[in-house]
Amino acid sequence: MGNSTFWGPDWDSLQNQDPEIASLLLKELERARGGLQLIASENFTSPAVLAALGSTFSNKYAEGYPGKRYYGGCSVVDEAEVIGIERAKKLFDADHANLQPHSGASANIAVYGAFTKPGDTVLAMSLAQGGHLTHGSPVSFSGKWFNPIGYSVDPKTELIDYDNVRDLAKQHKPKMIVAGATAYPRLVDFKLMREIADEVGAILWVDAAHFIGLVAGKAIPSPVPHADVVSFTTHKVLRGPRGGMILCKAQHAQAIDKAVFPMMQGGPLMHGVAAKAVALKECATPEYQQYAKNVITNAQALSEGLKAEGMRPVSGGTDTHLVLLDLTPVGVTGKDAEKRCDASQITLNKNPIPNDPLPPMTASGIRVGSPSVTTQGMGVPEMKQIASFIAQAVKSESGHDKIADEVNKLCKAFPAYPQKY
Ligand SMILES: *Cc1c(COP(=O)(O)O)cnc(C)c1O
Repeated sequence: MGNSTFWGPDWDSLQNQDPEIASLLLKELERARGGLQLIASENFTSPAVLAALGSTFSNKYAEGYPGKRYYGGCSVVDEAEVIGIERAKKLFDADHANLQPHSGASANIAVYGAFTKPGDTVLAMSLAQGGHLTHGSPVSFSGKWFNPIGYSVDPKTELIDYDNVRDLAKQHKPKMIVAGATAYPRLVDFKLMREIADEVGAILWVDAAHFIGLVAGKAIPSPVPHADVVSFTTHKVLRGPRGGMILCKAQHAQAIDKAVFPMMQGGPLMHGVAAKAVALKECATPEYQQYAKNVITNAQALSEGLKAEGMRPVSGGTDTHLVLLDLTPVGVTGKDAEKRCDASQITLNKNPIPNDPLPPMTASGIRVGSPSVTTQGMGVPEMKQIASFIAQAVKSESGHDKIADEVNKLCKAFPAYPQKY
């Protein structure tokens, strides 16, 4: 490493130069540490990942790919990107990996770019049932420029209705079929989705943004052997930097790379690419595999605890890191529950349940996730405590300060970033 010292996160210079922003960074850290972070799509990334993010890699223009850049001076960042690509291919047993998408949505835009033309039909889980905005929402490019068809969950079991997927696929002949959602607590049958895609000659795209970390930790089955392309975010259960990534079969490698750059993006965020490489190394460890298992055990304990408090877990429970709860039995809307939990220092989100009679901004449900609290080292006993805190908060119209005190006490025993941060 020569004699250079790392010019990384320099807290003193930020504090001297811009105390206004510095104080907000501290305030946010205190907010995150002081309460329970149960947003299913959030996590606490490692200090090592944060160091890579706060590095001079942010300065480097590197349009193109390793060995084929549009700018000079890329030999060092090339090495980092190659390491990241190799780690991704090995971890997920994938033919090809692209680490450049700026976010999950950017990765998805590239998938459309690689496989579709405007006006093409795309079959995905309907938004109201848990699909993502980029899967055909009328306010997203995906709904404005493409022809989205939405499949549903079975109203009784609240599991994906694969007969419905097959019927709609045969009827509409989609160019792509999408598996993956933002609020589906169960495993997806990727093999069956592959069969359906093959029956109609469609591309199978798995948007694994939520659960890819569980795949990385070998806690749930992988979509990689079945899908033409798998897109995901790197900042959810995976616990890397905020960003996106795409894996695909060898025959789609060129189409995907061209769709990410130059079709949809300009210069990659090389500090993000380096941080993704750091996260991928962490994901290959036995510690991370244990973490992924614990995330699921904790989500299941949370689900059981909340069920015992009278809330109804959609589909009866969870196989993953998230639980969707119908609050109809306790007579509180998702919106009110979110507000009451917020006042109790419990951060979660309101969420529509399948076939929700209420509008999305009110919603009958809430979504909770275990990635962040599991990173803090909490286990099943703490999940039981958290379920009780949530129930107290949701069911009462006042007294949230007292609950917040209890929540604070629990969080102090499991601090996020216990190091010097
Ligand atoms: C989170 C998520 C995305 C979007 O990721 P961003 O990084 O917020 O753009 C896309 N698809 C699914 C299924 C997601 O859960």
